[in-house]
Amino acid sequence: MQEIRKIQSILEAALKYADEKNAQRITDLHIQIGELNNLMPESIQKNWELLSKDTIAAGAILHFMHIPAKYQCMACFQKYNPPDTNQFECPNCGSVGVKIISGEEFSVQAIDVADITS
Ligand SMILES: [Zn+2]
Repeated sequence: MQEIRKIQSILEAALKYADEKNAQRITDLHIQIGELNNLMPESIQKNWELLSKDTIAAGAILHFMHIPAKYQCMACFQKYNPPDTNQFECPNCGSVGVKIISGEEFSVQAIDVADITS
């Protein structure tokens, strides 16, 4: 359900953008997807097709930009890309308190539209 809501909000943002540009069609969406989201592009694609089918975004191509997870150790402030995202041990000092810097993204980076009317 979480995933559907996220896709719905992306669809709404895309439709709003197209409306502002007076575009009749949305052709491509460039989506940032963080490694920690556990979202499968295939599943996003399927839900996107379901949600967008009666809108001007129907048939739009989704492009995924994968963002790797990045943690920062709260003890020594070392920033690192965890080899295993379930492993919270700092490679520098061995402490287990981390802050997630990136990897939780799920947002639209760019939207391509077509058939702009004036
Ligand atoms: Zn550390």
